[in-house]
Amino acid sequence: MKKCILGIILFLFVCGCSNKVEDINTLIENTDNTVIGINYPITNTKLDDIIKNDIDKIYNSFKEDNFSSDNKNELNVDYTYTNINGYISIGLFIYKNEDSSSSNDILTYNYDTNKNKILNIEDITYDLDIIEEFDINNLNFTFSNQYLTIYGVNNTNIPLSDLNLKINLKQEETIEKVNVDVPEKVIDPNGKIIALTFDDGPSNYTNELIEYLNSEGCNATFFILGNKVKTYQDTLIKSLKYGNELGNHSYNHKWLIKLDEESFKEQIVKTQDIIEQFTGYTPKVLRPTYGSINSSIKNNTDLDIVLWNVDTMDWKYKSVDTIVKRATKNLKDGNIILMHDTHKRTVEAVKKIVPIIKENGFICVTASEMKEINLIREQMNE
Ligand code: ZN
Repeated sequence: MKKCILGIILFLFVCGCSNKVEDINTLIENTDNTVIGINYPITNTKLDDIIKNDIDKIYNSFKEDNFSSDNKNELNVDYTYTNINGYISIGLFIYKNEDSSSSNDILTYNYDTNKNKILNIEDITYDLDIIEEFDINNLNFTFSNQYLTIYGVNNTNIPLSDLNLKINLKQEETIEKVNVDVPEKVIDPNGKIIALTFDDGPSNYTNELIEYLNSEGCNATFFILGNKVKTYQDTLIKSLKYGNELGNHSYNHKWLIKLDEESFKEQIVKTQDIIEQFTGYTPKVLRPTYGSINSSIKNNTDLDIVLWNVDTMDWKYKSVDTIVKRATKNLKDGNIILMHDTHKRTVEAVKKIVPIIKENGFICVTASEMKEINLIREQMNE
């Protein structure tokens, strides 16, 4: 009998810098009038309330504007984050596509965690002539360990080496080598199989989820966002060690079918690259955002596109039992169940779903394993 055998060792070099966000908040919605994808960092500082307040305003006004719109309009919020020696710099990039015209906005936040105060441009550098042409009361800027970026009609990147700095933005980076040992698996292609899939993560609930799945001998596929990889690197490496699969779910959850070819490819490649860089693993599967596909997506990626045939709607239903019911009401060989590891209730639901799956004689496999098993079954039938 043919068996499905999988196993690899991954090697990677990881940066030991402290440039990771404490946590990331995620809000993904797909309604009749809107698709909304929002990701923003949590810093455990006074900035959190300020950012949350701004996000709420952006979200509420977008919902109000599109309450009865004829088109399905999009709001996307992505971020950049830097923490150098306790100096935090955040950029929020707000993208709206309403009635086929798009707009971009930026909000920036800079904070000194040593003194617990907001950083203004005059706290950063003595060279204030660089901002002469900008409105100082309405100045949006961020810094990295290489540049000070000022946002205006055009964005200006000023190398830090050209500036007389008031604070220390030099960063020591250490690189360490990590080996990720992915277990070898033998799967009986004749068994009944189900694929659990989780989108939009990782989050701070993912660790509990993978620990639970591992304790049950269960594997799943996690379709992750590129902009979260750095923050949850340890969780992702552990997830791979446990035998789970990582898939590509875009960099920042833009609605992929609305992007031109180049922007689409950038979303995919940037995500593949950061996953490779921080886990050593190269995803083989893609789940397009909001489950929307078109010929351009199909033609412009080599990744296997994986959708689902069971939707728990766990982003919408707040009741654990409803999620469990939706996941298990029609258990069938080949089911691909859609969930999101960005909700606490989903982790609780999985703890009830997995026992039901197992009691009914199914085993959980990853999306790629399911594909491989289906190929073996086809060969067996020839
Ligand atoms: Zn999603």
